[in-house]
Formats: sequence, C-alpha cells, structure tokens
Amino acid sequence: CGVMAVYNHSDAARLTYWGLYSLQHRGQESAGIASADGTEVNDIKGMGLVSEIFTDDVLAKLPGYMAIGHTRYSTTGDSALLNAQPISVDSTKGLIAIAHNGNLVNLGTARERLERDGALFQTTSDSEIIIQLIAHSKKTTLVDCIAESLSQVEGAFSIVMMTRNRIFAARDPHGFRPLSMGRIPGVDGAPDTFVFASETCAFDLLHAKYERDVKPGELVMVSEDGVTSRYFNTTTQQASCIFEHVYFARPDSKIYGRWVQQSREQMGRQLARESGVPADLIVPVPDSGVTAALGYAAESGIPFNFGLIRNHYVGRTFIQPEQRVRDFGVRMKLNPVRSLLEGKRVVLIDDSIIRGTTSRKIVRMVRAAGAKEVHMRISCPPTISPCFYGVDTPSKKDLIAANHSVEEIRQYIEADSLAYLSLVGLTHACTTGESADGLSPGSFCTACYTGEYPTQWVDVAEILPAV
Ligand code: 5GP
Ligand code: SF4
Ligand code: MG
Repeated sequence: CGVMAVYNHSDAARLTYWGLYSLQHRGQESAGIASADGTEVNDIKGMGLVSEIFTDDVLAKLPGYMAIGHTRYSTTGDSALLNAQPISVDSTKGLIAIAHNGNLVNLGTARERLERDGALFQTTSDSEIIIQLIAHSKKTTLVDCIAESLSQVEGAFSIVMMTRNRIFAARDPHGFRPLSMGRIPGVDGAPDTFVFASETCAFDLLHAKYERDVKPGELVMVSEDGVTSRYFNTTTQQASCIFEHVYFARPDSKIYGRWVQQSREQMGRQLARESGVPADLIVPVPDSGVTAALGYAAESGIPFNFGLIRNHYVGRTFIQPEQRVRDFGVRMKLNPVRSLLEGKRVVLIDDSIIRGTTSRKIVRMVRAAGAKEVHMRISCPPTISPCFYGVDTPSKKDLIAANHSVEEIRQYIEADSLAYLSLVGLTHACTTGESADGLSPGSFCTACYTGEYPTQWVDVAEILPAV
C-alpha cells in the first residue's frame, strides 16, 4: 500500500491526491482521502485507481488544511470497499483516521482482547486494531495513547493518522516499510507545509523537499505547535524490507535514505559478475527488470534493448488478487519484439520468480519470437518463504523455489540457464556506493529468502513445509 499526509496547505486534499497518484504502483484495488479543517473530518473512498475515484467534484468535497490518503492492495482483510482506507473511527478519544502500509502479525490476540473489552470493529482490516487500541488506552494524553498502542502491536506498520487538528506519522520498530517526511517552504513568510509519503517520488510532484525518514520506532506529531517526535521503541534491530529495493518501490524514490535506482543497478552489475553468460542481447522484463538489466548490460558489455514491450494500460499483474486474472494479464501486458530477438542469444532479467507461471510464459514468448537461447537472470535470491509484513507472496506450497531446486525451476520455465543473485550480493548491492548512509547488510529483512523472520509472531500454517 501507499500512504500520504499533508499538514498546513489550503488545498491539502489535492496535494494528497497528487501524492497518491505517484504512489499508485503500491496498490490499485482501492484508494481514499480524509481531510480536516480543524473542526470536521470528511473522507471519500472508492474501489479502483486514484484517478478514477478523485475527480475535481469529489476533491471539492474534501475541504481543509490537512489530509491523509491511501492506495490499497490487500494482504489481509477482504478486498472490499469496507476495508478501503483511511479508516475513521469516532471514539472517546475523538475522531481518528488512519492509513496503514504493512501487516500486523499479532492481530489475533490483540483483536480478541479488544473485543472482550467491548471494542466494536467496523472493518476486517488489521489496521483498525491500532485505532481501537488507542480508543481503549487508559493513558491521559492522545500522544501517550498512540505511543502505547503502537508498542502493543507487532509487525509492519508505516502509518499516518489524522485527528481534527493534528497529523501523526509512525513506523514500526523494525522499519519494515518506508515512510519519509518532506517540506514545502511557505510563500511570503507563511508557515511551511509538512508532507509524509511512503516514497519520496510522491514529493517531487508537490515540489516538496525530502527532509528525512520517519525512523523505525518513531512517532512524529505535527500540530499548531510545530513538529515534535518521540520514540515508542528504541531496542529493536532495524529490519527494513529489502524487496522494496528489489521490486516494490519506484527507482526514482529514496527508500531508507537510499536511492532505489542505485540499488537496482548494483543488483544487475553483481548478477553479471556472479553468473555472466555469453549472449547477444540483454532484455529486461518490463518494468520491474529494467534498472537491473541496465546494470547487467553495463557490467557485461552486452547490448541492452527492449525485446519485450509492455502495454502500459494494464496494471501490475500480480496485484490482481485472482490467479485467473493474472494468467490472462501476462499476455495482455507483454509482447515480444521479433525484429530484435530473432536468432539471438538472449539474457532475460527479472526481479523475482514467485510461482514460476509468468516466467514460463515469458520464456516461451521470447523463444517463439525467434530467440536462439533464452537465459533467465533474477535480481534477488530464490523466494522460499512467504511475507507477513505487507507483500502479498503466496503461502509456501505455491512458492516454486520453496519446493524445487534451481535446476528444477530452470526446467519448468524452459530456460537454457537460470541464475539468481546471491543473498550476500543483494545486501551488498543495497549498501554500496553513494546514498547508503547508515545502512548495513544487517539493516534489512530478508525473510522471504532465508525463512528467518525478524518478529516473534508469524503465521505458522503459512510456512509449513509443502505436502
Ligand atoms: P512468476 O514467474 O512467479 O509467475 O512471476 C514473476 C513476476 O511476477 C515477477 O516480476 C514478480 O515480481 C511478479 N509476481 C508474480 N506473482 C507475484 C506475487 O504473488 N507476489 C509478488 N510479490 N510478485 C509476484
Ligand atoms: Fe520484504 Fe521479504 Fe521481509 Fe516481506 S519477508 S518484508 S517481502 S524482505
Ligand atoms: Mg515483474
């Protein structure tokens, strides 16, 4: 999912809309914006794309100087309008709206305890638990209630919250998902506008300047009195999702303070060093394989070209919840360029193999277009374990690499050769060169490649060995 917040701008909802537009790749099922003018909170949510939901007329119904927004792709909770965000709950603590990126992992226990205490849940989304915990907190100030609530949930949460007159932004202590803070300087001595977004690419359209990340375990509050910050957890080791750098985030974003473009290019270079193969042409699987393929081509000296053309009017295929839609999606989405591929030894670069079905179709497609050899190179290690922190990987039985060797996968996808980037190569790629300040190979979650989860709670049923 993508989250966005704006504090102190006369057109806060419109800025949030622009931000969400830049975060559309993080979720395409539903989107929503809640705005506040100091007294009232309004929200509008819908199924589909940001641009389909928010016309000028709709934005006009969202007045106020503050707003938060969300683009959703479901990992838990149904993919229905009911679970679209921001979720607003009116309680003894006043009205609170929340937009959440990530997944909580101890939600069963937390939810039961809250329901025993009389909480009435409005949605089946795990995100509502955070608000219900705030509502049921015995602390006296709202900030204390929020900090207490955040210290009780485990898992991944990069969240923005809004009350009638304040904005809060927080990240879980592992810092699984990104969240950055930016600033638009006020004109003619007017106070600055503060913005928060899942990815810094959302700042550019607003002419907001990236200021810093919200830190793991940090709660930032923006109000009339300015920006204040406190930590609700300082003892947990950072475990930021490395898959954001592999696939999820846009290359024009800075994630955990590190340019995604630089990481991806290094992944491609490292892949060429680890498992180069004689070939005539490097072809990315668009869009996710493009930057790594450029790195691979630069390192290997083999020409790069777009041998597969993507139809840009088809969204991210895996974000469609159903396998049926996904299968049809691949053929709708990609088409080979015969004039480039004919008679060539081709290296295909993609970011990951999950079920193997997409990769198999692509290899067949490239061969059918005349390629003499098709070598597949993947810019991360084999995905052997599901994600519980906000990326929709299927359970272990459907992960091809959980149950098959690299050679078996090669046979299944019908490639002449197949190689993955090593784990050491991947963490190295995300921490070398410029803009890697403060990040070390140990700063990342790599659980989907190792099966070693940084949190105490995981869904055991999902990681049982396949039968
Ligand atoms: P596959 O060959 O596994 O069917 O598909 C590989 C491509 O689709 C990769 O580009 C991968 O990023 C994307 N993909 C397909 N299914 C999923 C999924 O369930 N989760 C994730 N994270 N990516 C997927
Ligand atoms: Fe990211 Fe994988 Fe960890 Fe999930 S398990 S947070 S996808 S690195
Ligand atoms: Mg892809």
